[in-house]
Amino acid sequence: MGGSVVTRSRLWLVAALVPTLAWADEPLDWDAINRIRDEGFNRSEVMGTLRTLTDELGPRLTGSPRGQAASRWTKARLAEWSLEEARLEAWGPFGRGWSFSRAAVHMILPRETPLMALPKAWTPGTKKPVRGPVMKVEIESPEELEEYTGKLEGKILLIAEDRQLAAADEAAFQRRTKEELEELRVFSVPGEPSDWQERMRKRWELRRELNEFLVKEKALATVDLSSRDGGTLRLGSGGSREPEESVGVPALAMALEHYNWILRLLEEDGEVELEIDVRAEFHDEDLMAYNTVAEIPGSDLAHEVVMLGGHLDSWHAGTGSNDNAAGCAVMMEAVRIIRALELQPRRTIRIALWTGEEQGLLGSRAYVAEHLASRPAVEDPEQLELPEFLRERTWPVEPKPDHEHFSAYFNLDNGSGKIRGVYAQSNAAVVPIFERWLEPFHDLGAESVVTRDSGGTDHLAFDAVGLPGFQFIQDPLDYSTQTHHSNLDTFDHAVADDLKQASVIVASFVYHAAMRDERLPRKPLPQEPPEKPKKADDEEASD
Ligand SMILES: [Zn+2]
Repeated sequence: MGGSVVTRSRLWLVAALVPTLAWADEPLDWDAINRIRDEGFNRSEVMGTLRTLTDELGPRLTGSPRGQAASRWTKARLAEWSLEEARLEAWGPFGRGWSFSRAAVHMILPRETPLMALPKAWTPGTKKPVRGPVMKVEIESPEELEEYTGKLEGKILLIAEDRQLAAADEAAFQRRTKEELEELRVFSVPGEPSDWQERMRKRWELRRELNEFLVKEKALATVDLSSRDGGTLRLGSGGSREPEESVGVPALAMALEHYNWILRLLEEDGEVELEIDVRAEFHDEDLMAYNTVAEIPGSDLAHEVVMLGGHLDSWHAGTGSNDNAAGCAVMMEAVRIIRALELQPRRTIRIALWTGEEQGLLGSRAYVAEHLASRPAVEDPEQLELPEFLRERTWPVEPKPDHEHFSAYFNLDNGSGKIRGVYAQSNAAVVPIFERWLEPFHDLGAESVVTRDSGGTDHLAFDAVGLPGFQFIQDPLDYSTQTHHSNLDTFDHAVADDLKQASVIVASFVYHAAMRDERLPRKPLPQEPPEKPKKADDEEASD
């Protein structure tokens, strides 16, 4: 017994020394950490916030009346929690708002039965139930439109190929294993940028021409295939939110099981007739969108800022619970905790709940351009034709005065899973700092700091202008298997203990970032990528 005590105390000594040597002078405020854990675990309001954002306010499509109401509610709630200067910052114009209140699709022939389908955002309703025969079309490029001239009137068009139901060999609900977290530590040297933008531009051009063509040809509606199996409806937008553009004809996405069935009936030369009843509305009163912003003022370093946030906007099929009411509820809870405990940060802590994220990080980019760093105006007329998210970046990055006073931005937007660590976003200098800040939360499963980048959400708006912007590593739960952008993204899929854990860790991270002597270290300011080398001509290639 005595022997084991000695062994244990020696182990303790080694364990205590290692992190101290790694980052000896990164202070942890253990008293604040205890109080944050107590408030966040025992008096949490995170699920109440989530419930209001989803059951009561959601879905929150940017520019829709519900989206606008959610922005106003978050501002009022943050003010109630005694955050200061709670405000809505307008950006845009974003374009038209859109909402829908009814969607019923039935097969009429060969037999009557209800079908699972929902309208794509920014597409028109049917005004009254409409019926028509179904026709399969293949339109991959604007050149293929011509062969359909005069053939589409009164038809309901199936626009996607069939897709085989994927084998359900993946667990629907997942937590990251130790091995997966270990694999995330591997950093790959960045390769060539992808041609994603080029592909998106082609799709956008086709959609614009198709919308006009289908209206001219008097097609009744289009039906696409849901991008998720298992009766789940996962869909985004069609139509257009530009006031001057055609919104096309009613456009829906249908569950795979029903879509493939109709295709099989058509293949057997069967006659298929559908009835579609969609009520949808465009809202043109206000083309601007709004970010919610509020702050906890700092003390001696009040002119410097630590930011946290997530996107408040969602898609329309569910109530946008995991994407991303969960992230917003956690970020709101983190500042509530700091305020409730009357912790006084040295730097100003500013929360922002973005809109327009789902359409290309538009709200966070507009915020960064307005306050932190701009880029030269786009002048190329061809580029100006494109929607903002498809335009090429202009150079150089032009920092504004507040760029200098900015410490870091922390984002949460990968569902309602608990925090397992943080992506350092290629910023090697923050790794030992974040490792130290995670030490008090190893017991909650949060241990990993990895240098690799995380993409796809609002921290990229900051990263793009050389400011430290981070996204946490989260357990995926059912985010990628079921809820992401689907009709299943509702309150029931959120996990309360995970959201409490995340709130506590974010509160501690933000507080420590606001208290340290220095701003967080940065990467170099991004520079224009070198022009792609021209292919060597024959002469040079010959030696
Ligand atoms: Zn999201």
